[in-house]
Amino acid sequence: MSDAAPEPRSNFIRDLVATDIESGRFGRPIKTRFPPEPNGFAHIGHVKSICLNFGIARDFDGGCNLRFDDTNPETEDMKYVRAFEEDVRWLGFSWAGEYFASDYFEKLYEIAELLVTRGKAYVDSQNAEQIRAGRGTVTTAGTNSPFRDRSPEENLDLLRRMKAGEFADGAHVLRAKIDMASPNMIMRDPLLLRIRKAAHYRRGDAWCIYPLYDFAHGLSDAVEGITHSLCTLEFKDNNDIYKWLVTEAGFERPPEQTEFSRLELDYTVVSKRKLLRLVNEKHVSGWDDPRMPTIAGMRRRGVRPEALRTFADTVGVSRKPQRTELATLEHAIRDDLNMEVPRVLCVTKPLKVVLTNYPEGQVEELDASYYPHDVPKTGSRKIPFSRELWVERDDFMEDPPKKFYRLAPGREVRLRYGYFIRCESVVKDDAGNVIELRCTYDPATRGGDAPDGRKVQGTIHWVSAARALDCELRMYDRLFRVPDPEAGGDDVDFLTMVNPESLVTLSGAKIEPSVARDSDDARYQFERTGYFWRDPVDSRPERLVFNRIVTLRDGWAKVVGRG
Ligand code: ATP
Ligand code: MG
Repeated sequence: MSDAAPEPRSNFIRDLVATDIESGRFGRPIKTRFPPEPNGFAHIGHVKSICLNFGIARDFDGGCNLRFDDTNPETEDMKYVRAFEEDVRWLGFSWAGEYFASDYFEKLYEIAELLVTRGKAYVDSQNAEQIRAGRGTVTTAGTNSPFRDRSPEENLDLLRRMKAGEFADGAHVLRAKIDMASPNMIMRDPLLLRIRKAAHYRRGDAWCIYPLYDFAHGLSDAVEGITHSLCTLEFKDNNDIYKWLVTEAGFERPPEQTEFSRLELDYTVVSKRKLLRLVNEKHVSGWDDPRMPTIAGMRRRGVRPEALRTFADTVGVSRKPQRTELATLEHAIRDDLNMEVPRVLCVTKPLKVVLTNYPEGQVEELDASYYPHDVPKTGSRKIPFSRELWVERDDFMEDPPKKFYRLAPGREVRLRYGYFIRCESVVKDDAGNVIELRCTYDPATRGGDAPDGRKVQGTIHWVSAARALDCELRMYDRLFRVPDPEAGGDDVDFLTMVNPESLVTLSGAKIEPSVARDSDDARYQFERTGYFWRDPVDSRPERLVFNRIVTLRDGWAKVVGRG
């Protein structure tokens, strides 16, 4: 990250880490980890977790591991591992070490034997239904399994045979022997290992017993010497089993779990399972569709990592469950681009203007600065001006209301960086649609001011028809129609809430020719239209495609429109 990055805001977790360092509590440098399950792409919720874990490690001279929590053979895949790696790097972080929970299967099995030998775990041969029924409810205690008092010898024998593949899926499970009456349901003899005869994406058929989340997670942390294990609030009740396991397994100064609230963003879903449905059911073009709240999607859309880091810092870290407004994210993206990117002219829905008093065949070059005065950057380019121009269809009205300050029959406007033009007449097709404006320009107004002091109310953008480049614009909007697409719970499929207008493609747009000289990853503000960059997948020099990264702030269109 650049040295100029602002100091991150403090939060209760940073305060806790600072206190622990002060007291020397762990007796080692602090260590965090970011532990995704590789069953989908990283999303905006992960951005919060990544910035928290890697940010703390960086700021407190510790390290953060990237650990894949890959204990589930059914849904995991190497392509998701690669995607997480790329996304973490792109966000500007590097990991102290990269680990896989699936590399700990041996270690976890050793701990399983240790627990069995010490009478702290047993093999239960009830089926799933019986186990569930025996667990009791929030208000009633559970009942002990009839297999709970098996001897350590018998348990060890069964456990070894489970590992050797002697039993079918579901025939036995390994459970911790804790307390079937615990007020914390998770402590009622939680499952540690289950039989699953399935190939794992990394371990193949080497294992047929797989650890459950609780068994794998805390112990993976402990093995890596993690100090602060930060997770989201839904794991609050798992904290007891976390502590129990790292203690029973004999770790000195084991890691400690601290929970914070998940990021929930309006007009978005943040669950890999749900994002996978959007992909599989073809509501989007893939994990990197620019409408997706994935890091890959936002990157392809044109968002910069700086904006996402600022966003994470803005939402902060607390234990209070909250939804974040989409405007907060858009604000971070816009603020980042506003200070960085050049302004250029692009006409999204073109209408032809012919300047009847401008010489045919003549092209002149006008000076145009790339940045407004309030942006501390400089630079300019020439833009060609000619007899035929394109202007925005919406900047003309044949029969305008009083407050319409743009083009209309008899009205005069300023062309950005150019001249005053007056609309003298309109040309219509047989259906009565306006297809061309016949205008005159005032040669004395070059640069945008009239020597006679005459004022115009509006300034509009335009491009030279002779020199403009064709381009396609992809105008992205929120992916869902409603702020909380999951509000209906299981009764209403969230996919019915997808916004049918989340992508509007404008294929006939016209852009000033200067962009042909810029690098493919240049970002722009198209004046009065929004922030854009070339789609990194589909844009070609001969067929430019631009993604709208974000719209302009609401007040902006008005300010510029008034000129
Ligand atoms: P998903 O439901 O998307 O699969 P998960 O919680 O299962 O999410 P993992 O990929 O297994 O996600 O988790 C990686 C880390 O990212 C975890 O520490 C998790 O707590 C964190 N994380 C996931 N979603 C969010 C979120 N919305 N806000 C903050 N942190 C999150
Ligand atoms: Mg998950």
